[in-house]
Amino acid sequence: MKTIWKVLIGIVITIVLCIIAFFTYIKLNPKIAVLCYHNVATAEEKANYPEENDWTITVDNFEEQLKYLQKHGYKTLTTDELYNWKHGKIDLPYKSVLITFDDGFLSNYHYAFPLLKKYNMNAVVFVVGEFIENLNTEEWTGNIKTYMTKNILDKVKEVYPNIEICSHSYMLHKDGAIEQEKVVLKQDINIFNERIQNTSIYAYPFGKYNENMINALKETEYKLAFRYGPTKKEYRKATRNDSDYEIPRLNVSHGMEVWKFGLRLLMPF
Ligand SMILES: [Zn+2]
Repeated sequence: MKTIWKVLIGIVITIVLCIIAFFTYIKLNPKIAVLCYHNVATAEEKANYPEENDWTITVDNFEEQLKYLQKHGYKTLTTDELYNWKHGKIDLPYKSVLITFDDGFLSNYHYAFPLLKKYNMNAVVFVVGEFIENLNTEEWTGNIKTYMTKNILDKVKEVYPNIEICSHSYMLHKDGAIEQEKVVLKQDINIFNERIQNTSIYAYPFGKYNENMINALKETEYKLAFRYGPTKKEYRKATRNDSDYEIPRLNVSHGMEVWKFGLRLLMPF
């Protein structure tokens, strides 16, 4: 009997020490999940584009995730808050996320932004300048390969002040495009700011970057740049020690069951 008690007390002490170690680790190593989405579509629309499966979440799944964030008291950040946190100017609750969308799909405007407004949440959309200036239709037809127009971006600014419009390059969203002289990369950055939106926040096209690209961003006074990958699946949370120009994101573009999504956000990495 005595031995059983000793074992039980040993187990309880071990569990308590593990819990203390976990919370100490979290306190000493604060991390923020930067979520990366791409397209949002109904299940029927998504089924029509199997080749886009990895980059499309269903509207229902997306709303479930937002409901989860709201129900569990998550704060949705602005890029200013992330920047100030990185630079030690503010602390943020463990339950904080930065919601981001890449590429500027029309589906974001049609499905995602109204839901974000409904749940009173902030988000960032990284748009590609030349995609915005293509002749896109503004009406939603169920074609998930269409992008927002300049006119729609104006509406976003008016109707959805909770959405930040940032740069995914003007015309570097193509294979090998960043393998150019720094002066060309800087031109691309400046054209985006002149023609699409004045910003200092960037997401690398396809997550690819190099020394020239980072220097081009620094010299054009950009202050944050986000990665994507290295895998198509999740990556990891951002820390204060990450370079401002190499911020990792958690890729949730393909959708994720809500229990797994919740569990993933709780993980300290
Ligand atoms: Zn992209």
